[in-house]
Amino acid sequence: MKEQFQNNILKCASIDHLTKAAQTIQAGGLVAFPTETVYGLGADATNDDAVACIFDVKGRPYFNPLIIHFSNQVSLSATVVFNEQAKKLARAFWPGALTLVLPRKSDCSISLLASAGLDTLAVRIPNHPLAQALITAANTPIAAPSANCSGEISPSTAEHVMQSLGEKVDTILDGGPCRVGIESTVIDLSGSTPTLLRPGGIVCEELEKVIGPIVLSDGSEDKNRSPGMLERHYAPSIPLRLNAKKANPGEAFLAFGSKVNARHTNLSHMGDLKEAAANLFAMLRMLDQPNFRGIAVMKIPTTGLGVAINDRLKRAATM
Ligand code: AMP
Ligand code: MG
Repeated sequence: MKEQFQNNILKCASIDHLTKAAQTIQAGGLVAFPTETVYGLGADATNDDAVACIFDVKGRPYFNPLIIHFSNQVSLSATVVFNEQAKKLARAFWPGALTLVLPRKSDCSISLLASAGLDTLAVRIPNHPLAQALITAANTPIAAPSANCSGEISPSTAEHVMQSLGEKVDTILDGGPCRVGIESTVIDLSGSTPTLLRPGGIVCEELEKVIGPIVLSDGSEDKNRSPGMLERHYAPSIPLRLNAKKANPGEAFLAFGSKVNARHTNLSHMGDLKEAAANLFAMLRMLDQPNFRGIAVMKIPTTGLGVAINDRLKRAATM
């Protein structure tokens, strides 16, 4: 495999690169790595100091717990308690863009800091060969939020990680652009009713086909059940205006669908929500330029993956 190094980016992950990244994790360092959703900023989830570094580097509030990533269910089931619904969802959607919030086992080895002192843990098995290989080689669960400064646009390429965090990360594994491009769906199964805490890469209706009705959290309860559901998040440095029909003077325009001038930046000319999700963060970053007064975004349908896209846009537009 051809090796190309640019600063600390490991351009193509050969066995040597993976070994170096795994050793970095084992030594308590930070590795940014691709998943199918977005790039994660990973550290050994059992190491308090390493987990603390994630919060420091991102400027993430300590009350906002992290998702813990596993390569398989054997190691995962040692840390959390599975109920029937969790087993069904795991069988149907893992590895994949689904995060389950489950009760921590009493002898759980995961850093309490990673779960912000809660008695639950958010867990996921990602569906990306590099993520899987890294977790396996490091031989430890990896705590990983998105690899960007807290509150800013999530990274869907290694270059985005470099722009956001640069040399603060020990190693960046480059696996190209993320396929899904939007974060995982987070479902809380620790209470009496399955609750959607965050819409994401797997559409809620698909999950309901497997476990029945899922309650949408109404926001009031969120702050306790998912302390990280911040109102302002995923935000560019210039204002975002939603449901725009056209750009006002000085604004950049982010279009969706075929009924617009072909020269506009377009989330999906075909009106395909999957394509729009994959393009969302990269296009927001591209238009986040100081020479624009803001970004005007066209209306995006609120069906299917549009629910997650609209969730991100709404938070990005919050001042
Ligand atoms: P991020 O790491 O930015 O992708 O966000 C992960 C999301 O999962 C945040 O909104 C957290 O609040 C949520 N989360 C993580 N752990 C838990 C948990 N134990 N209980 C509820 N929500 C959680
Ligand atoms: Mg994030």
